[in-house]
Amino acid sequence: MSEEEFKQFISRFEFRDGAVMNGPDRHVLVHASYLVGIQREMEAVLGPDGAFAVVYNAAIKGGEFVAEQLAKQAGAAPLEQVIRMIHNIGTLIGWGKFTVTEFTEKPVLMRTRHDNSYITGLWTGATEGKCLFVSAIVGIIIPLLKKAGLATELEYEEYKCVAKGDPHCEFVVRERKEE
Ligand SMILES: [Zn+2]
Repeated sequence: MSEEEFKQFISRFEFRDGAVMNGPDRHVLVHASYLVGIQREMEAVLGPDGAFAVVYNAAIKGGEFVAEQLAKQAGAAPLEQVIRMIHNIGTLIGWGKFTVTEFTEKPVLMRTRHDNSYITGLWTGATEGKCLFVSAIVGIIIPLLKKAGLATELEYEEYKCVAKGDPHCEFVVRERKEE
């Protein structure tokens, strides 16, 4: 993703009476410190697992709509290509630079490197991954996997994170193992 691609991407945005629109989709530009502040407050009230559950479950419930929009844009493109496209959009809207480093369908496995996360410099000294909002990607991926007839019981783990001192973040999405 280059600056040129970013300029092309935002050139499609329109400002309509206080709404920032990308076609039919409304975007809200927020300061990264606001997102991180929400995370900290959620953790304080609900604990780290509770905060994660809120974002993760909300994404799974809301992901269907986004997935449909993307599938329309992607046409008949293969699943891996659509998944890479989703990551590219994440990069273009400023969440950090996503690179899918591994992808298999059977079993479902996706490993992603995430450079320059939105959380960089805003959360340090953590003992676990803190890029909570990135986990929302699972909510978009599940409906696509469902459509492709693949496993949808997934687990998400951010095992490297700038918040705990790693040079970049890395997460994996894989089929949940039977217990
Ligand atoms: Zn992270």
